[in-house]
Amino acid sequence: MSTAAAATTLRVMKFGGTSVAGAERLRAAARLAAAAAAEERVLVVASAMAGVTDLLLAGIATAEAGPAPQGGEAGPPPMSGPARQGGETASPPESPGAGAAERYRTLHREVLDGLRVDLGAEQVAVSLRLEALATELARLLEGTAILRSCPAAGRARICALGERASCALLAGLLRAGGLDCLELDPSAVLPCEGDALEASPLPALIRERLAGLRQGGAALALMPGFFGGRWRADAPEPGRDVGGVPGSPPWRAGPAAGDHEVMLLGRGGGDLSAALAAAALDARLLEIWTDVDGIYTADPRLVPTAACLPELSFDEAMELAHFGAKVLHPRTIAPVRAHGIPVRVRNSLDPSRPGTLVHAGAAPSARPARGLSLMRGLALLDVAGPGMRGVPGMAARVFAALAAHEINVVLITQGSSECAISVCVGAVSAAAAAAALERAFAAERAAGLMDAVALRRGLAILSLVGDGMRRQVGVAGSLFGALGDLGCNVVAIAQGSSERSISAVIAEEEAVRAMAAVHGRFFDGSERLELYLMGVGLVGKQLLVQLARQQERWRRRGVDLRLCGVAASRRMLLEPAGIEPERALEQLAARGEPLSPEDLRESVRRRRPGCPVLVDCTGSGELAEAYGDFAVAGFHLVGANKRLNSGPLEGYRALRGVLVRHRRRFHYETNVGAGLPVITTLRDLLAGGDRVLRVEGILSGSLSFILGQLEDEVPFSLAVARARQAGFTEPDPRDDLAGIDVARKALILHRELGGCLELGQAALEGLLPASFDAGEGGAGGDGSAGRARSAVRGSIEAFMERLRELDAPFAARAAELRASGRVLRFVATVDESSCRVAPVAVGAEHPLFAVRDGECAVSFTSEAYSPRPLVVRGYGAGAEVTAAAVLADVLRLVQGVYP
Ligand code: ADP
Ligand code: ASP
Ligand code: MG
Repeated sequence: MSTAAAATTLRVMKFGGTSVAGAERLRAAARLAAAAAAEERVLVVASAMAGVTDLLLAGIATAEAGPAPQGGEAGPPPMSGPARQGGETASPPESPGAGAAERYRTLHREVLDGLRVDLGAEQVAVSLRLEALATELARLLEGTAILRSCPAAGRARICALGERASCALLAGLLRAGGLDCLELDPSAVLPCEGDALEASPLPALIRERLAGLRQGGAALALMPGFFGGRWRADAPEPGRDVGGVPGSPPWRAGPAAGDHEVMLLGRGGGDLSAALAAAALDARLLEIWTDVDGIYTADPRLVPTAACLPELSFDEAMELAHFGAKVLHPRTIAPVRAHGIPVRVRNSLDPSRPGTLVHAGAAPSARPARGLSLMRGLALLDVAGPGMRGVPGMAARVFAALAAHEINVVLITQGSSECAISVCVGAVSAAAAAAALERAFAAERAAGLMDAVALRRGLAILSLVGDGMRRQVGVAGSLFGALGDLGCNVVAIAQGSSERSISAVIAEEEAVRAMAAVHGRFFDGSERLELYLMGVGLVGKQLLVQLARQQERWRRRGVDLRLCGVAASRRMLLEPAGIEPERALEQLAARGEPLSPEDLRESVRRRRPGCPVLVDCTGSGELAEAYGDFAVAGFHLVGANKRLNSGPLEGYRALRGVLVRHRRRFHYETNVGAGLPVITTLRDLLAGGDRVLRVEGILSGSLSFILGQLEDEVPFSLAVARARQAGFTEPDPRDDLAGIDVARKALILHRELGGCLELGQAALEGLLPASFDAGEGGAGGDGSAGRARSAVRGSIEAFMERLRELDAPFAARAAELRASGRVLRFVATVDESSCRVAPVAVGAEHPLFAVRDGECAVSFTSEAYSPRPLVVRGYGAGAEVTAAAVLADVLRLVQGVYP
């Protein structure tokens, strides 16, 4: 196969662990490299096969732990740090760690077998190389087992064997495919200094070492990722012409590979190797081939709705990677950005995908944020105390103390009072960090100027990243709002000074849920509301009908209205995955269980969904009393039920307190005028700074109908019978005629205005004379008067019969009013200090004069709206309009749908 030796451009292709894991993946990688090499010069950088680095680390841990009586090989420990307890399960052949060496040998031999046909004549050479690497590993682990310790240099050398082996296989495949392949030894060509496990590369020297290749040497080169070599001033110069001659210098593995000490670039460091080489080679492009389509708005493993980004800026990629987006090693971007080399992240499992381009010219994102990342396994240290205020250099001392112990600080925040500095570090260094800070501030501690360093573990950082956030107001508010709505406590916050990222430190156990919720708000353009419908009477049933009709429309607008529960008097059906509204009643009957409200709360507490909503379409006082418990359990409340708002003031106020503390919302627009926007209008007036002097309203559709009939000279008893027939009244029309329901509505308006009367203190005069039907009407609330009345009530039919006695007095009154140009209206009159409900005679000038035949109206007289009031008028009853308004209340919970 021909290569593009003459081409001047060069591409670096980095294949991650999953892109070289196994025969099939290696074959695909070799094919991709060959295709690229036909177009331009190529440097392939490869990781160890997925899982091999973990295997090597586990082998070290086992060897360090020495022989153990039982137990499996230790899991992958951090690259540094103390050895774990562990041992071999099967009888250890020679020494602890030999099992790992054997697995390493077998693993690669199996892949080699799988590639036998592809490798052809190359197979022998590859086999020998793999055998030599396996032998070296066995030897190094044996040494470790003898010493019961593995120095950093040894650890690095062992870890590098993963990359060396995958490259041996890949080199063989490329050669077998007819490509000349120059193999580079990173310990020679990537000089580094510092920590052997988290090395600091030396870009100028790397550039020097790779000059030969940069200047056009080989058309195709291959280099293991993840490690470089320690630079020593006295070491023999490997020559400026590395890579100058295709096929040489020969592969140098293990200790025989010169005098170079292997230095690791940190976990996931293969990306950095590739970026360093790309910069040193003035590459045209760096390709990162991995197991996902590109860089997503969030880790697709954590957030299933995450979307692959077509492009992003260097800064954005850097910030996302810094805060844990594993798809790129956090140090990858700096070297390529300095040279303006674009990076394309691509999927080796599906090379047809365009991937994500990271480059300087990325168009600004349409959304305020580009991505969301999560970093787990963190701890927070608080350095605080009265003596820290205004003392210069405190933060510097904190940093210096941690730097002296090589502890990496992930995030820092300082209270504006300057009394406290909080730093986030990896959990593994938490104890060392606390000790270092205690020592650094020992004098202040002794003098009582500083408190003991507080250490909190089990934390994670959730970071929202995007260049666009600089121009956008309110992003932080939305982020913390989303977390708050979830009931997720934010331990600390930090905003990068570039304003390119906002980070929230939260409990690790909350992290995945929080990611989903924040992602939903910022990226999915979709929010899920979980609806739990209580009560399937007229309004509840109608709500199901409308939900069925509206669900799809709202889904298209990014709101998932999911019915997750439905309950009738004693049965409840809970279905977190969702219930089809059309079939809810049928399913409730078939599968409903005798669940209690507490069972419902428990189910939501356990699952903790983002936005559960209790939709109360009952008239139950008991359910209303439990609203507070529902709010504590995480529910928002939407109620057609007036019981709480017109109940005892103490309960009314207590619920408001709970709602504020738990950041839950309670919407009850339907409490007063059914579908009419009464409460919203009142609140808008108040919010706008207007002073509402008086609210008057016809708040009962049935009384509006009956009084309208009187005007048309219909006898009173017939008017009531017609209203009843048309379904305008409660089952017992006395409930309407007594006016208690209107009194409740009036009281709710009074309380909206800041009033603090109880229902019993509202002045209520029913439509019927006080003497009529034993205890009917008269002043009083639903308390004693109501109970006395019902105790002596006769049957409805008997009552209807007796109503005829009132026909003459009502007709006479109507005639008298007609003569003076007035009509009778059942009016609620409310202000801050009073609440009255009574039949009132009004003239044509009155805003409620023309409101009849079942219509309702509320007139607001305010400083701005006087003498002519603002009037809201329309049908104030009926299941259809009420259900529509309940649904609107539910949707008001979604940000951005309604103000
Ligand atoms: P490789 O072995 O190719 O280097 P890694 O496992 O190191 O692969 O990185 C790829 C993984 O990074 C993905 O499988 C994905 O789960 C994770 N990841 C985390 N954040 C993101 C993100 N924002 N976009 C894409 N992948 C991400
Ligand atoms: N093999 C190394 C690791 O697993 C480096 C890499 O994959 O980039 O961390
Ligand atoms: Mg990686």
